[in-house]
Amino acid sequence: MPEPIRKIVIAGGGTAGWMCAAALRTGVPAEVEITLVESEDIGIIGVGEATIPTIRDFNELIGLEEGDFVRRTEATFKLGIDFVGWGTKENRYFHGFGDFGAVHQGLEPHQMWRRLKAAGDPASLFDWSMPTQLAYAGKFFPPNPNPKSALRDYTYAFHFDASLYAAYLRELCEKRGVKRINARIANVGTNAETGFLTGLALDDGRFVDGDFFIDCTGFRGLLIEGALKAGYTDWSHWLPVDRAWAVPCARSGTLTPYTSAMAHEAGWQWRIPLQHRTGNGHVFSSRFMDEQAAADVLLQNLDGKALKDPMLVRFLTGHRNRFWAKNCICAGLASGFLEPLESTSINLIQTAVVRFLEHYPDKGPSPVLEAEYNRKMQLSYERVRDFIILHYVLQSRDDGELWRYTRNMAMPDTLAYKIELFRARGIPLLYDYDHFHQPSWISVFVGQGLIPESYDPLVDRLPLDQVQSLMRQRREQIAAVAAKLPAHEDFIRAHCPSP
Ligand code: FAD
Repeated sequence: MPEPIRKIVIAGGGTAGWMCAAALRTGVPAEVEITLVESEDIGIIGVGEATIPTIRDFNELIGLEEGDFVRRTEATFKLGIDFVGWGTKENRYFHGFGDFGAVHQGLEPHQMWRRLKAAGDPASLFDWSMPTQLAYAGKFFPPNPNPKSALRDYTYAFHFDASLYAAYLRELCEKRGVKRINARIANVGTNAETGFLTGLALDDGRFVDGDFFIDCTGFRGLLIEGALKAGYTDWSHWLPVDRAWAVPCARSGTLTPYTSAMAHEAGWQWRIPLQHRTGNGHVFSSRFMDEQAAADVLLQNLDGKALKDPMLVRFLTGHRNRFWAKNCICAGLASGFLEPLESTSINLIQTAVVRFLEHYPDKGPSPVLEAEYNRKMQLSYERVRDFIILHYVLQSRDDGELWRYTRNMAMPDTLAYKIELFRARGIPLLYDYDHFHQPSWISVFVGQGLIPESYDPLVDRLPLDQVQSLMRQRREQIAAVAAKLPAHEDFIRAHCPSP
Protein backbone atom coordinates (compact mmCIF):
# COMPACT_ATOMS: atom_id res chain seq x y z
CA MET A 1 0.00 0.00 0.00
CA PRO A 2 1.63 3.23 -1.11
CA GLU A 3 1.71 6.43 0.86
CA PRO A 4 -0.31 8.47 0.44
CA ILE A 5 -3.35 6.52 -0.84
CA ARG A 6 -4.05 7.39 -4.51
CA LYS A 7 -6.87 5.01 -5.41
CA ILE A 8 -9.79 3.76 -3.32
CA VAL A 9 -11.96 0.98 -4.71
CA ILE A 10 -15.43 0.32 -3.31
CA ALA A 11 -16.85 -3.14 -4.06
CA GLY A 12 -20.66 -3.08 -4.07
CA GLY A 13 -23.25 -0.42 -4.82
CA GLY A 14 -26.09 -0.97 -2.37
CA THR A 15 -26.91 1.52 0.38
CA ALA A 16 -23.52 0.78 1.96
CA GLY A 17 -21.47 1.21 -1.20
CA TRP A 18 -22.99 4.52 -2.19
CA MET A 19 -23.02 5.92 1.36
CA CYS A 20 -19.30 5.10 1.59
CA ALA A 21 -18.64 6.66 -1.80
CA ALA A 22 -20.47 9.87 -0.82
CA ALA A 23 -18.71 10.19 2.53
CA LEU A 24 -15.25 9.38 1.14
CA ARG A 25 -15.68 11.80 -1.73
CA THR A 26 -16.48 14.44 0.90
CA GLY A 27 -13.69 13.51 3.30
CA VAL A 28 -10.60 12.35 1.39
CA PRO A 29 -8.37 14.64 -0.68
CA ALA A 30 -9.79 15.48 -4.11
CA GLU A 31 -6.80 13.91 -5.92
CA VAL A 32 -7.63 10.46 -4.52
CA GLU A 33 -9.49 8.50 -7.22
CA ILE A 34 -12.63 6.68 -6.06
CA THR A 35 -14.03 3.83 -8.15
CA LEU A 36 -17.15 1.81 -7.29
CA VAL A 37 -17.83 -1.60 -8.82
CA GLU A 38 -21.32 -3.03 -8.67
CA SER A 39 -23.23 -5.65 -10.56
CA GLU A 40 -26.72 -4.79 -11.77
CA ASP A 41 -27.25 -8.52 -12.37
CA ILE A 42 -26.74 -9.26 -8.70
CA GLY A 43 -28.74 -6.27 -7.45
CA ILE A 44 -29.11 -4.98 -3.92
CA ILE A 45 -31.07 -6.00 -0.80
CA GLY A 46 -32.93 -2.69 -0.74
CA VAL A 47 -35.22 -3.31 2.24
CA GLY A 48 -33.48 -0.98 4.71
CA GLU A 49 -36.03 1.73 5.20
CA ALA A 50 -36.11 2.94 8.79
CA THR A 51 -33.32 4.97 10.37
CA ILE A 52 -32.33 6.71 13.58
CA PRO A 53 -31.67 10.47 13.93
CA THR A 54 -27.94 10.31 13.12
CA ILE A 55 -28.87 9.88 9.44
CA ARG A 56 -29.53 13.63 9.42
CA ASP A 57 -25.88 14.31 10.35
CA PHE A 58 -24.81 12.04 7.52
CA ASN A 59 -27.03 13.73 4.97
CA GLU A 60 -25.73 17.09 6.12
CA LEU A 61 -22.12 15.89 5.91
CA ILE A 62 -22.50 14.90 2.27
CA GLY A 63 -24.51 18.03 1.44
CA LEU A 64 -28.06 16.79 0.89
CA GLU A 65 -30.87 19.30 1.21
CA GLU A 66 -33.61 17.80 3.40
CA GLY A 67 -36.61 18.66 1.23
CA ASP A 68 -34.89 17.30 -1.87
CA PHE A 69 -33.90 14.12 -0.01
CA VAL A 70 -37.50 13.57 1.20
CA ARG A 71 -38.86 14.00 -2.34
CA ARG A 72 -36.25 11.86 -4.05
CA THR A 73 -36.48 8.93 -1.65
CA GLU A 74 -40.28 9.03 -0.97
CA ALA A 75 -39.32 9.60 2.65
CA THR A 76 -41.50 10.21 5.67
CA PHE A 77 -40.52 11.53 9.09
CA LYS A 78 -39.94 9.23 12.05
CA LEU A 79 -40.37 10.23 15.70
CA GLY A 80 -39.68 6.75 17.06
CA ILE A 81 -40.93 3.16 17.12
CA ASP A 82 -44.30 1.88 18.29
CA PHE A 83 -43.75 -1.46 20.04
CA VAL A 84 -46.87 -3.60 20.04
CA GLY A 85 -46.96 -6.87 21.97
CA TRP A 86 -43.48 -6.46 23.45
CA GLY A 87 -43.13 -7.23 27.17
CA THR A 88 -46.54 -8.87 27.24
CA LYS A 89 -48.92 -9.74 24.43
CA GLU A 90 -51.28 -6.88 25.36
CA ASN A 91 -48.58 -4.25 25.93
CA ARG A 92 -47.88 -1.23 23.75
CA TYR A 93 -45.27 1.47 24.24
CA PHE A 94 -43.30 4.01 22.23
CA HIS A 95 -39.55 4.44 21.92
CA GLY A 96 -39.43 8.12 21.03
CA PHE A 97 -36.41 10.11 19.92
CA GLY A 98 -36.37 12.59 22.76
CA ASP A 99 -36.33 13.02 26.50
CA PHE A 100 -39.14 13.05 29.03
CA GLY A 101 -38.99 16.75 29.81
CA ALA A 102 -36.64 19.09 31.58
CA VAL A 103 -34.39 18.13 34.48
CA HIS A 104 -35.71 20.07 37.50
CA GLN A 105 -33.22 21.07 40.23
CA GLY A 106 -30.98 18.28 38.98
CA LEU A 107 -33.79 15.71 39.18
CA GLU A 108 -34.56 13.48 36.23
CA PRO A 109 -38.19 13.30 35.05
CA HIS A 110 -38.25 9.51 35.21
CA GLN A 111 -37.15 9.66 38.87
CA MET A 112 -39.97 12.12 39.62
CA TRP A 113 -42.36 9.80 37.81
CA ARG A 114 -41.21 6.89 40.00
CA ARG A 115 -41.90 9.00 43.09
CA LEU A 116 -45.44 9.72 41.83
CA LYS A 117 -45.94 6.03 41.15
CA ALA A 118 -44.86 5.19 44.70
CA ALA A 119 -47.52 7.67 45.89
CA GLY A 120 -50.21 5.86 43.86
CA ASP A 121 -50.40 8.36 40.94
CA PRO A 122 -51.45 6.44 37.79
CA ALA A 123 -49.60 8.75 35.33
CA SER A 124 -47.61 7.01 32.61
CA LEU A 125 -44.02 8.12 32.04
CA PHE A 126 -44.87 8.30 28.34
CA ASP A 127 -47.39 11.09 29.02
CA TRP A 128 -44.32 13.33 29.32
CA SER A 129 -42.67 12.25 26.11
CA MET A 130 -43.24 14.82 23.37
CA PRO A 131 -42.34 12.42 20.51
CA THR A 132 -44.72 9.77 21.87
CA GLN A 133 -47.65 12.13 22.10
CA LEU A 134 -46.96 13.81 18.74
CA ALA A 135 -46.55 10.43 17.06
CA TYR A 136 -49.76 8.96 18.44
CA ALA A 137 -51.59 12.16 17.41
CA GLY A 138 -50.17 11.71 13.87
CA LYS A 139 -48.42 15.10 14.04
CA PHE A 140 -45.00 16.18 12.86
CA PHE A 141 -42.96 19.36 12.99
CA PRO A 142 -39.17 19.71 13.28
CA PRO A 143 -37.89 20.51 16.77
CA ASN A 144 -36.65 23.95 17.73
CA PRO A 145 -33.28 23.85 19.55
CA ASN A 146 -34.01 27.11 21.41
CA PRO A 147 -33.93 26.08 25.12
CA LYS A 148 -37.06 28.20 25.71
CA SER A 149 -39.07 26.47 22.98
CA ALA A 150 -41.64 23.82 23.86
CA LEU A 151 -40.43 21.97 20.76
CA ARG A 152 -36.89 21.45 22.03
CA ASP A 153 -37.26 18.00 23.60
CA TYR A 154 -37.14 15.68 20.64
CA THR A 155 -35.41 14.84 17.41
CA TYR A 156 -36.34 12.77 14.37
CA ALA A 157 -35.17 10.40 11.67
CA PHE A 158 -36.66 9.19 8.37
CA HIS A 159 -38.23 6.24 6.66
CA PHE A 160 -37.08 6.08 3.05
CA ASP A 161 -36.83 3.81 0.04
CA ALA A 162 -33.28 2.41 0.28
CA SER A 163 -33.08 1.69 -3.46
CA LEU A 164 -34.03 5.29 -4.28
CA TYR A 165 -31.51 6.53 -1.70
CA ALA A 166 -28.74 4.46 -3.33
CA ALA A 167 -29.71 5.84 -6.77
CA TYR A 168 -29.81 9.41 -5.41
CA LEU A 169 -26.35 9.03 -3.84
CA ARG A 170 -25.03 7.47 -7.04
CA GLU A 171 -26.12 10.50 -9.04
CA LEU A 172 -24.51 12.83 -6.53
CA CYS A 173 -21.27 10.81 -6.40
CA GLU A 174 -20.93 10.54 -10.17
CA LYS A 175 -21.35 14.31 -10.45
CA ARG A 176 -18.55 14.67 -7.92
CA GLY A 177 -16.21 12.44 -9.87
CA VAL A 178 -16.72 8.94 -8.48
CA LYS A 179 -16.19 6.42 -11.28
CA ARG A 180 -18.76 3.60 -11.49
CA ILE A 181 -18.22 0.25 -13.17
CA ASN A 182 -21.09 -2.17 -13.77
CA ALA A 183 -19.54 -5.63 -13.81
CA ARG A 184 -19.29 -8.78 -11.75
CA ILE A 185 -16.23 -9.22 -9.55
CA ALA A 186 -14.81 -12.62 -10.48
CA ASN A 187 -11.73 -12.59 -8.30
CA VAL A 188 -9.93 -10.51 -5.69
CA GLY A 189 -6.21 -9.98 -6.31
CA THR A 190 -3.80 -10.17 -3.33
CA ASN A 191 -0.07 -9.66 -2.95
CA ALA A 192 1.38 -13.12 -2.24
CA GLU A 193 4.01 -11.70 0.12
CA THR A 194 2.07 -9.15 2.18
CA GLY A 195 -1.47 -10.43 1.83
CA PHE A 196 -2.61 -6.88 0.94
CA LEU A 197 -5.32 -6.57 -1.71
CA THR A 198 -4.14 -5.41 -5.11
CA GLY A 199 -7.36 -5.15 -7.13
CA LEU A 200 -10.58 -6.65 -8.42
CA ALA A 201 -10.63 -8.93 -11.43
CA LEU A 202 -13.91 -8.41 -13.31
CA ASP A 203 -15.77 -10.99 -15.36
CA ASP A 204 -15.26 -8.87 -18.51
CA GLY A 205 -11.50 -9.28 -18.21
CA ARG A 206 -10.70 -5.87 -16.70
CA PHE A 207 -8.62 -5.50 -13.53
CA VAL A 208 -9.41 -2.56 -11.23
CA ASP A 209 -6.35 -1.89 -9.12
CA GLY A 210 -6.42 0.09 -5.89
CA ASP A 211 -4.49 1.08 -2.78
CA PHE A 212 -7.36 0.79 -0.30
CA PHE A 213 -10.63 -1.18 -0.56
CA ILE A 214 -14.09 -0.89 0.97
CA ASP A 215 -16.04 -4.14 0.98
CA CYS A 216 -19.75 -3.40 0.54
CA THR A 217 -20.64 -6.62 -1.27
CA GLY A 218 -23.43 -7.49 1.16
CA PHE A 219 -23.68 -10.80 3.01
CA ARG A 220 -21.10 -12.27 0.58
CA GLY A 221 -18.22 -10.24 2.03
CA LEU A 222 -16.14 -11.02 -1.05
CA LEU A 223 -13.07 -9.08 0.08
CA ILE A 224 -13.15 -9.09 3.87
CA GLU A 225 -14.09 -12.76 4.17
CA GLY A 226 -13.54 -14.26 0.73
CA ALA A 227 -10.00 -12.89 0.33
CA LEU A 228 -8.94 -11.77 3.81
CA LYS A 229 -10.65 -14.43 5.99
CA ALA A 230 -11.55 -11.94 8.72
CA GLY A 231 -13.78 -14.51 10.50
CA TYR A 232 -17.26 -14.04 11.94
CA THR A 233 -18.59 -13.81 15.49
CA ASP A 234 -21.92 -15.60 15.69
CA TRP A 235 -24.46 -14.06 18.12
CA SER A 236 -27.40 -16.26 17.21
CA HIS A 237 -27.50 -17.72 20.75
CA TRP A 238 -28.53 -14.23 21.92
CA LEU A 239 -30.45 -13.12 18.86
CA PRO A 240 -31.94 -16.29 17.38
CA VAL A 241 -33.99 -14.67 14.62
CA ASP A 242 -32.36 -15.65 11.32
CA ARG A 243 -34.88 -15.04 8.52
CA ALA A 244 -37.05 -12.22 7.23
CA TRP A 245 -39.88 -12.15 4.73
CA ALA A 246 -40.22 -8.66 3.26
CA VAL A 247 -43.05 -7.33 1.12
CA PRO A 248 -44.15 -3.83 0.14
CA CYS A 249 -47.87 -3.10 0.11
CA ALA A 250 -50.11 -0.32 -1.12
CA ARG A 251 -50.47 2.62 1.22
CA SER A 252 -53.53 2.63 3.41
CA GLY A 253 -54.72 5.21 5.91
CA THR A 254 -52.73 8.21 7.03
CA LEU A 255 -48.92 8.35 7.11
CA THR A 256 -47.82 7.50 10.63
CA PRO A 257 -44.69 9.40 11.77
CA TYR A 258 -43.27 6.22 13.28
CA THR A 259 -42.15 2.66 12.55
CA SER A 260 -44.26 -0.15 14.01
CA ALA A 261 -42.74 -3.32 15.46
CA MET A 262 -45.41 -5.91 16.26
CA ALA A 263 -44.34 -9.00 18.17
CA HIS A 264 -45.63 -12.36 16.88
CA GLU A 265 -45.20 -15.92 18.12
CA ALA A 266 -41.72 -16.53 16.69
CA GLY A 267 -40.51 -13.05 15.84
CA TRP A 268 -41.89 -9.65 14.96
CA GLN A 269 -43.24 -7.65 12.06
CA TRP A 270 -42.18 -4.21 10.87
CA ARG A 271 -44.40 -1.66 9.22
CA ILE A 272 -42.68 1.32 7.64
CA PRO A 273 -44.76 4.07 6.03
CA LEU A 274 -43.29 5.63 2.88
CA GLN A 275 -45.02 8.22 0.73
CA HIS A 276 -45.63 5.82 -2.17
CA ARG A 277 -46.03 2.48 -0.33
CA THR A 278 -45.73 0.73 3.01
CA GLY A 279 -42.75 -1.52 3.74
CA ASN A 280 -43.48 -4.67 5.73
CA GLY A 281 -41.51 -7.64 6.92
CA HIS A 282 -41.66 -10.53 9.33
CA VAL A 283 -38.37 -11.25 11.10
CA PHE A 284 -38.45 -14.70 12.69
CA SER A 285 -36.42 -17.58 14.01
CA SER A 286 -36.43 -20.68 11.82
CA ARG A 287 -35.78 -22.70 15.00
CA PHE A 288 -39.27 -21.82 16.18
CA MET A 289 -41.34 -21.38 12.99
CA ASP A 290 -41.00 -22.74 9.46
CA GLU A 291 -40.63 -20.41 6.48
CA GLN A 292 -44.09 -21.01 5.03
CA ALA A 293 -45.85 -20.39 8.34
CA ALA A 294 -43.84 -17.18 8.78
CA ALA A 295 -44.85 -15.96 5.30
CA ASP A 296 -48.50 -16.65 6.18
CA VAL A 297 -48.20 -14.60 9.39
CA LEU A 298 -46.89 -11.66 7.36
CA LEU A 299 -49.53 -11.83 4.65
CA GLN A 300 -52.34 -12.15 7.21
CA ASN A 301 -51.19 -9.01 9.00
CA LEU A 302 -50.82 -6.50 6.14
CA ASP A 303 -52.98 -3.40 6.11
CA GLY A 304 -52.79 -2.90 2.34
CA LYS A 305 -52.64 -4.97 -0.85
CA ALA A 306 -49.26 -6.73 -1.34
CA LEU A 307 -47.50 -5.22 -4.37
CA LYS A 308 -45.32 -8.25 -5.11
CA ASP A 309 -44.48 -11.70 -3.78
CA PRO A 310 -42.68 -11.68 -0.44
CA MET A 311 -38.88 -11.97 -0.59
CA LEU A 312 -37.03 -14.22 1.87
CA VAL A 313 -33.72 -13.07 3.37
CA ARG A 314 -31.60 -15.49 5.42
CA PHE A 315 -28.96 -14.15 7.80
CA LEU A 316 -26.75 -14.99 10.75
CA THR A 317 -26.71 -12.41 13.51
CA GLY A 318 -23.19 -11.26 14.38
CA HIS A 319 -20.22 -9.41 12.94
CA ARG A 320 -16.84 -9.84 11.26
CA ASN A 321 -14.00 -10.43 13.71
CA ARG A 322 -12.05 -7.69 11.96
CA PHE A 323 -13.75 -4.70 10.34
CA TRP A 324 -10.43 -3.48 8.99
CA ALA A 325 -7.92 -6.06 7.75
CA LYS A 326 -4.77 -5.19 5.75
CA ASN A 327 -5.87 -2.49 3.26
CA CYS A 328 -9.61 -3.13 3.45
CA ILE A 329 -12.55 -2.14 5.63
CA CYS A 330 -16.06 -3.53 5.36
CA ALA A 331 -19.40 -1.76 5.74
CA GLY A 332 -23.08 -2.71 5.61
CA LEU A 333 -24.11 -6.32 5.40
CA ALA A 334 -20.51 -7.31 4.57
CA SER A 335 -19.54 -6.29 8.11
CA GLY A 336 -22.29 -8.15 9.96
CA PHE A 337 -25.97 -7.97 10.68
CA LEU A 338 -28.21 -7.30 13.65
CA GLU A 339 -31.94 -7.63 13.15
CA PRO A 340 -33.57 -4.30 12.23
CA LEU A 341 -35.60 -3.99 15.47
CA GLU A 342 -34.08 -0.58 16.29
CA SER A 343 -33.27 0.40 12.67
CA THR A 344 -29.51 0.39 13.22
CA SER A 345 -27.91 -1.09 10.07
CA ILE A 346 -27.75 2.14 8.09
CA ASN A 347 -26.47 3.86 11.22
CA LEU A 348 -23.68 1.27 11.42
CA ILE A 349 -22.74 1.97 7.79
CA GLN A 350 -22.49 5.65 8.64
CA THR A 351 -20.42 4.80 11.73
CA ALA A 352 -18.09 2.58 9.69
CA VAL A 353 -17.30 5.17 7.03
CA VAL A 354 -17.20 8.29 9.21
CA ARG A 355 -14.97 6.46 11.69
CA PHE A 356 -12.74 5.34 8.82
CA LEU A 357 -12.29 8.98 7.83
CA GLU A 358 -11.30 9.76 11.44
CA HIS A 359 -8.70 6.96 11.30
CA TYR A 360 -7.75 7.47 7.63
CA PRO A 361 -4.27 6.01 7.02
CA ASP A 362 -2.94 8.95 5.04
CA LYS A 363 0.68 7.99 5.71
CA GLY A 364 0.36 4.37 4.63
CA PRO A 365 -0.41 1.24 6.68
CA SER A 366 -0.87 1.99 10.35
CA PRO A 367 -1.35 -0.90 12.78
CA VAL A 368 -2.40 1.48 15.54
CA LEU A 369 -5.13 3.19 13.48
CA GLU A 370 -6.34 -0.20 12.28
CA ALA A 371 -6.43 -1.64 15.83
CA GLU A 372 -8.27 1.37 17.22
CA TYR A 373 -10.79 1.30 14.40
CA ASN A 374 -11.46 -2.38 15.03
CA ARG A 375 -11.79 -1.82 18.78
CA LYS A 376 -14.36 0.94 18.33
CA MET A 377 -16.35 -0.87 15.64
CA GLN A 378 -16.55 -3.97 17.82
CA LEU A 379 -17.83 -1.84 20.72
CA SER A 380 -20.42 -0.21 18.44
CA TYR A 381 -21.73 -3.61 17.43
CA GLU A 382 -21.79 -4.83 21.04
CA ARG A 383 -23.65 -1.74 22.27
CA VAL A 384 -26.31 -2.06 19.58
CA ARG A 385 -26.52 -5.82 20.24
CA ASP A 386 -27.22 -5.21 23.95
CA PHE A 387 -29.95 -2.68 23.19
CA ILE A 388 -31.68 -5.17 20.89
CA ILE A 389 -31.32 -8.08 23.31
CA LEU A 390 -32.94 -5.93 26.02
CA HIS A 391 -36.27 -6.23 24.15
CA TYR A 392 -36.08 -10.03 24.36
CA VAL A 393 -34.98 -10.53 27.94
CA LEU A 394 -37.47 -8.13 29.54
CA GLN A 395 -40.71 -9.88 28.68
CA SER A 396 -43.15 -12.43 29.99
CA ARG A 397 -44.84 -13.59 26.77
CA ASP A 398 -45.84 -17.21 26.94
CA ASP A 399 -47.17 -17.83 23.44
CA GLY A 400 -44.04 -19.10 21.73
CA GLU A 401 -40.74 -20.90 22.28
CA LEU A 402 -38.79 -17.84 21.09
CA TRP A 403 -40.07 -15.83 24.04
CA ARG A 404 -39.48 -18.59 26.59
CA TYR A 405 -35.98 -19.20 25.25
CA THR A 406 -34.86 -15.56 25.16
CA ARG A 407 -36.37 -14.76 28.56
CA ASN A 408 -34.32 -17.51 30.20
CA MET A 409 -31.06 -17.30 28.23
CA ALA A 410 -27.82 -16.02 29.79
CA MET A 411 -27.30 -12.47 28.52
CA PRO A 412 -24.06 -10.49 27.99
CA ASP A 413 -22.62 -9.22 31.31
CA THR A 414 -22.60 -5.66 29.98
CA LEU A 415 -26.37 -5.77 29.56
CA ALA A 416 -27.04 -7.67 32.80
CA TYR A 417 -25.26 -4.92 34.73
CA LYS A 418 -27.32 -2.18 33.06
CA ILE A 419 -30.54 -3.97 33.85
CA GLU A 420 -29.53 -4.58 37.46
CA LEU A 421 -28.69 -0.93 37.95
CA PHE A 422 -31.92 0.30 36.43
CA ARG A 423 -33.91 -2.20 38.46
CA ALA A 424 -32.26 -1.08 41.69
CA ARG A 425 -32.47 2.72 41.34
CA GLY A 426 -33.66 3.68 37.85
CA ILE A 427 -30.15 4.66 36.71
CA PRO A 428 -29.75 4.33 32.91
CA LEU A 429 -26.05 3.58 32.51
CA LEU A 430 -24.32 4.38 29.21
CA TYR A 431 -20.99 2.88 28.17
CA ASP A 432 -18.48 4.34 25.71
CA TYR A 433 -19.77 4.17 22.14
CA ASP A 434 -23.36 3.46 23.12
CA HIS A 435 -25.43 4.38 20.06
CA PHE A 436 -28.62 5.20 21.99
CA HIS A 437 -29.04 7.90 24.62
CA GLN A 438 -30.49 7.49 28.10
CA PRO A 439 -34.13 8.28 27.18
CA SER A 440 -34.04 5.43 24.65
CA TRP A 441 -32.91 2.97 27.31
CA ILE A 442 -35.47 4.32 29.79
CA SER A 443 -38.24 3.92 27.18
CA VAL A 444 -37.48 0.25 26.65
CA PHE A 445 -36.84 -0.53 30.34
CA VAL A 446 -40.09 1.06 31.49
CA GLY A 447 -42.04 0.24 28.33
CA GLN A 448 -41.33 -3.45 28.78
CA GLY A 449 -42.32 -3.40 32.41
CA LEU A 450 -39.12 -2.90 34.40
CA ILE A 451 -40.15 -0.55 37.21
CA PRO A 452 -37.19 0.52 39.37
CA GLU A 453 -37.38 -0.83 42.92
CA SER A 454 -36.47 2.58 44.34
CA TYR A 455 -35.91 6.14 43.13
CA ASP A 456 -33.43 8.95 43.58
CA PRO A 457 -33.91 9.94 47.26
CA LEU A 458 -33.25 13.59 46.37
CA VAL A 459 -36.69 13.70 44.73
CA ASP A 460 -38.17 13.52 48.24
CA ARG A 461 -36.79 17.00 48.88
CA LEU A 462 -39.62 18.32 46.72
CA PRO A 463 -43.14 18.31 48.17
CA LEU A 464 -45.29 15.72 46.42
CA ASP A 465 -47.76 18.34 45.18
CA GLN A 466 -44.89 20.24 43.53
CA VAL A 467 -43.83 17.12 41.60
CA GLN A 468 -47.46 16.55 40.63
CA SER A 469 -47.80 20.11 39.46
CA LEU A 470 -44.59 19.98 37.39
CA MET A 471 -45.75 16.86 35.65
CA ARG A 472 -49.25 18.24 35.06
CA GLN A 473 -47.72 21.33 33.45
CA ARG A 474 -45.59 19.14 31.19
CA ARG A 475 -48.62 17.15 30.10
CA GLU A 476 -50.59 20.34 29.40
CA GLN A 477 -47.69 21.84 27.48
CA ILE A 478 -47.43 18.77 25.26
CA ALA A 479 -51.19 18.74 24.61
CA ALA A 480 -51.14 22.45 23.69
CA VAL A 481 -48.18 21.97 21.33
CA ALA A 482 -49.65 18.87 19.71
CA ALA A 483 -52.96 20.62 19.07
CA LYS A 484 -51.25 23.36 17.04
CA LEU A 485 -48.94 21.24 14.89
CA PRO A 486 -49.80 19.97 11.42
CA ALA A 487 -50.61 16.37 10.61
CA HIS A 488 -47.52 14.50 9.37
CA GLU A 489 -48.83 14.21 5.84
CA ASP A 490 -49.75 17.90 5.69
CA PHE A 491 -46.25 18.81 6.84
CA ILE A 492 -44.71 16.77 4.02
CA ARG A 493 -47.06 18.29 1.47
CA ALA A 494 -46.27 21.84 2.64
CA HIS A 495 -42.53 21.56 3.21
CA CYS A 496 -41.34 18.93 0.75
CA PRO A 497 -43.80 19.23 -2.16
CA SER A 498 -43.29 17.16 -5.29
CA PRO A 499 -42.11 19.31 -8.21
P1 FAD B 1 -26.57 -5.01 -0.59
O1 FAD B 1 -27.77 -4.18 -0.71
O2 FAD B 1 -26.75 -6.50 -0.64
O3 FAD B 1 -25.58 -4.58 -1.75
C1 FAD B 1 -24.49 -5.40 -2.14
C2 FAD B 1 -23.84 -4.82 -3.38
O4 FAD B 1 -22.71 -5.61 -3.70
C3 FAD B 1 -24.73 -4.78 -4.62
O5 FAD B 1 -24.52 -3.59 -5.33
C4 FAD B 1 -24.22 -5.95 -5.44
O6 FAD B 1 -24.41 -5.75 -6.81
C5 FAD B 1 -22.76 -5.91 -5.09
N1 FAD B 1 -22.07 -7.18 -5.31
C6 FAD B 1 -22.15 -8.32 -4.59
N2 FAD B 1 -21.40 -9.28 -5.15
C7 FAD B 1 -20.82 -8.73 -6.24
C8 FAD B 1 -19.94 -9.20 -7.26
N3 FAD B 1 -19.49 -10.46 -7.28
N4 FAD B 1 -19.57 -8.36 -8.22
C9 FAD B 1 -20.01 -7.07 -8.24
N5 FAD B 1 -20.84 -6.57 -7.31
C10 FAD B 1 -21.24 -7.39 -6.34
N6 FAD B 1 -31.27 -1.18 7.81
C11 FAD B 1 -31.75 -0.10 8.45
O7 FAD B 1 -31.00 0.81 8.79
N7 FAD B 1 -33.09 -0.02 8.71
C12 FAD B 1 -33.95 -1.00 8.43
O8 FAD B 1 -35.15 -0.85 8.67
C13 FAD B 1 -33.43 -2.18 7.84
N8 FAD B 1 -34.22 -3.25 7.59
C14 FAD B 1 -33.67 -4.38 7.09
C15 FAD B 1 -34.44 -5.54 6.95
C16 FAD B 1 -33.86 -6.72 6.48
C17 FAD B 1 -34.68 -7.96 6.38
C18 FAD B 1 -32.51 -6.74 6.10
C19 FAD B 1 -31.86 -7.99 5.59
C20 FAD B 1 -31.75 -5.61 6.22
C21 FAD B 1 -32.31 -4.44 6.74
N9 FAD B 1 -31.54 -3.32 6.92
C22 FAD B 1 -32.05 -2.22 7.54
C23 FAD B 1 -30.16 -3.32 6.50
C24 FAD B 1 -30.02 -2.64 5.19
O9 FAD B 1 -30.87 -3.21 4.23
C25 FAD B 1 -28.60 -2.81 4.73
O10 FAD B 1 -27.73 -2.50 5.77
C26 FAD B 1 -28.33 -1.87 3.63
O11 FAD B 1 -29.28 -1.99 2.63
C27 FAD B 1 -26.97 -2.10 3.12
O12 FAD B 1 -26.90 -3.20 2.30
P2 FAD B 1 -25.54 -3.42 1.59
O13 FAD B 1 -25.27 -2.26 0.71
O14 FAD B 1 -24.52 -3.76 2.60
O15 FAD B 1 -25.76 -4.75 0.75
